Amino acid sequence: MPETPYFVSYPEAVKILESQPLTLPTETIPLDQGYNRIISRNLDSKVDDPRFDNSAMDGFAFRHQDSTPAPARLQITQTIQAGPANPPGAIVKGQTARIMTGAPMPEGADAILPIELCEVDEENKTVLLLEEGKKHFIRKQGENLQEGHTALHKATVLTPSSIGLCATMGYSEIPVFSQAKIGIVSTGDELQTPGMPLKDGEIYESNSFGLVGLVKWAGHQAKRYTSVVDSIDTLRATLDQAAKECDLILTSGGVSMGDWDFVRKLMEEEGDIKFWRVKIRPGSPPLFGYWKGVPLFGLPGNPASSHVVFRMLVGPYLRASTGGGGIQERRIRVQLAESLKTDGKNLILRRIFVDTSGEKLLAYSTGYQGSGNLNSLVLADALTLLEPGHSGEKGTWCDALLL
Ligand code: AMP
Ligand code: MG
Repeated sequence: MPETPYFVSYPEAVKILESQPLTLPTETIPLDQGYNRIISRNLDSKVDDPRFDNSAMDGFAFRHQDSTPAPARLQITQTIQAGPANPPGAIVKGQTARIMTGAPMPEGADAILPIELCEVDEENKTVLLLEEGKKHFIRKQGENLQEGHTALHKATVLTPSSIGLCATMGYSEIPVFSQAKIGIVSTGDELQTPGMPLKDGEIYESNSFGLVGLVKWAGHQAKRYTSVVDSIDTLRATLDQAAKECDLILTSGGVSMGDWDFVRKLMEEEGDIKFWRVKIRPGSPPLFGYWKGVPLFGLPGNPASSHVVFRMLVGPYLRASTGGGGIQERRIRVQLAESLKTDGKNLILRRIFVDTSGEKLLAYSTGYQGSGNLNSLVLADALTLLEPGHSGEKGTWCDALLL
């Protein structure tokens, strides 16, 4: 079959997508709503962390020299708890302060001994230090982060730990990229809403549900449209509506060479196609272009393919739209524990599970690799990135994309 002018390699497809990302505005949101959002500018710490020298242990604080040679007995002169209640007094020779984790170090003290290594004589208000004091149990002001230091950079995704760090740095609100509103349009006469009775020839529609999950995973907002029958007029009307309401449209189905593949037909006749078909397997028929000025991905109808193509094409496009940030793809290097089918032309994306128990990561197929087999994706840890020409033979190595 002669190649169409739009048929591209995977790197070419990504290059086209990254050259024309969405331009998303920015907004400020409360920190509580930050999960999975993408920071739109560098965040500098408003404070030192720790804010002051403090104890890493519940125990005693004293001058190190007073604890050698151990054991040594010291006079307990004060108790210091975390918080502003009792600013600590100074410690001098022979004295010690009972101190709680996170409480400020008293002036003069330069060592801590955890309570487990101390014998307290409550009656005489003394303590026997069984070991020499430990200087490393003092958490020094600014040792984690200094005021003014940029700890979180533009385009970072807010995870539970980075949300915590925003709070540590003193931010109650955070500047983020606005979420793209992404319309999801599935197509096919055979599709029925899950839960409804099925007529002969019908199947449950699954792609739009998986795609909503992927859009949320990527940190954006999904709007699902009622599944469209295979009619060019209905499809046109739905795409027109989605183009008015959304920043980006994802369709599923109808992009191959079949007579009822109306997404491709409509885009060919009335849209603006940038590429159609990519040298990847599964998922070769995707299309990218513009409908009434709004970017549109025509994803394949086969459920495993639509998911894989989202990860391989829509993911990089959305990352380019948020300053290179967003959920990052992680690659691992795996050895094939069994042979996987490849061909000379395509980037082969086999669904694999990865045995991590040994010294090297071993990749096994998750079973039948049909592009309609969603279960093989559910079982997968990763997708192989078998470059065109890779033999796919047992014992060879390849990169894999963690799912
Ligand atoms: P198409 O690309 O429209 O020819 O669809 C390819 C295959 O994917 C067919 O077997 C369809 O029935 C199936 N398919 C298409 N869209 C969906 C969908 N939204 N949910 C589940 N399966 C679908
Ligand atoms: Mg179809």
